[in-house]
Amino acid sequence: MSLIVQKYGGTSVGSPERIKHVARRVARWQRQGHQVVVVVSAMSGETNRLVALAKEIQSQPDPREFDVMLATGEQVTIALLAMALMDMGVSARSYTGGQVRILTDSAYTKARIMRIDEDRIRADLARNQVVIVAGFQGVDEAGNITTLGRGGSDTTGVALAAALKADECQIYTDVDGVYTTDPRIVPEARRLKSITFEEMLEMASLGSKVLQIRSVEFAGKYNVRLRVLSSFEEEGEGTLITFEEDEKMEHASISGIAFNRDEAKITILGVPDRPGIAYQILGPIGDANIDVDMIVQNVGHDGLTDVSFTVHRNDYQKALKILEPIQKHIKAREIVSGDKIAKVSVVGVGMRSHAGIASTMFRTLAEEGINIQMISTSEIKISVVIDEKYLELAVRVLHKAFGLEQPAR
Ligand code: ASP
Ligand code: MG
Repeated sequence: MSLIVQKYGGTSVGSPERIKHVARRVARWQRQGHQVVVVVSAMSGETNRLVALAKEIQSQPDPREFDVMLATGEQVTIALLAMALMDMGVSARSYTGGQVRILTDSAYTKARIMRIDEDRIRADLARNQVVIVAGFQGVDEAGNITTLGRGGSDTTGVALAAALKADECQIYTDVDGVYTTDPRIVPEARRLKSITFEEMLEMASLGSKVLQIRSVEFAGKYNVRLRVLSSFEEEGEGTLITFEEDEKMEHASISGIAFNRDEAKITILGVPDRPGIAYQILGPIGDANIDVDMIVQNVGHDGLTDVSFTVHRNDYQKALKILEPIQKHIKAREIVSGDKIAKVSVVGVGMRSHAGIASTMFRTLAEEGINIQMISTSEIKISVVIDEKYLELAVRVLHKAFGLEQPAR
């Protein structure tokens, strides 16, 4: 017998029919002798509807009240799923985050889970009950309702699996696993049987939005065996997210191509090349809570250099405003910037042992006449910034160049 935590996303519980379908799947696992804890999201579209509703009343909704309201979406689905199970003769009980006591900090709309009291859940499981827990929500020390950030039900699932030392945390969604890249861009994209945590973190942060990134970090930290799979298919093993490289069945050098169109690029030209200059430019950006992704500084010549970096598009105008006075102050020549860029990355732990990945990447882009504006690398990824209009082409040719459409050996 094993203890399984299953999380179902919004589309998986998007209608009464879908909820009954989930109930049948849960019942099947229980019949096979497993203890099952189910975490559900709000019905698809519901959280967006609530967000819009709040904004009609208050343009910047009060964070505490916002969370009181946002948490209602999941409260509806837990009860409906419990009813569906009961109707099938399966005994089930639902709990809100506060009832379990998923204790979080008090950072409304992006709270972090600090502790989970799992006694009540264990007692129910021992009585052969299916336990259903509302995703995305918790409660702070003072009893205020909190939410965990959009997509936060994934994190609830993983955190419960960690607290209960579950054998596996299964994340059911509307895709059947993690792909080598977005199949909407590359129809030949292939489902990966497994991917390591490190790779998944890179893929998630680079824009492949299968799992909330925080949930992957959590799973890595607490050694939770995590699997992504589809609730729309009866069979299928999905993608297992593994800890160890050697657990990986596929030994390709590259596991996937990730991309992201959310960034903007800012370059300060003709910056006096002297100690402290990077800090003078980027310090105030950091102080304004703007995350900087890539940073490139040229080799100086004639006492001058250029500094480029990228920020999220949402922070682009704010960053420019901060930089204008700085440019004058440090007597840099000018600022050039643009948000028509995209970042494309090749990701793979196999890179550590395979030489030549970078040259294959750069040659492939060159052959298509795609200019690389910036490059950054880590141990397991190489990212380039290119003109946004070449994004799809770049992803397609790289996917092919690294043989990702071939079934894994
Ligand atoms: N319902 C929340 C959202 O839409 C949480 C989740 O689905 O994970 O973001
Ligand atoms: Mg989700």
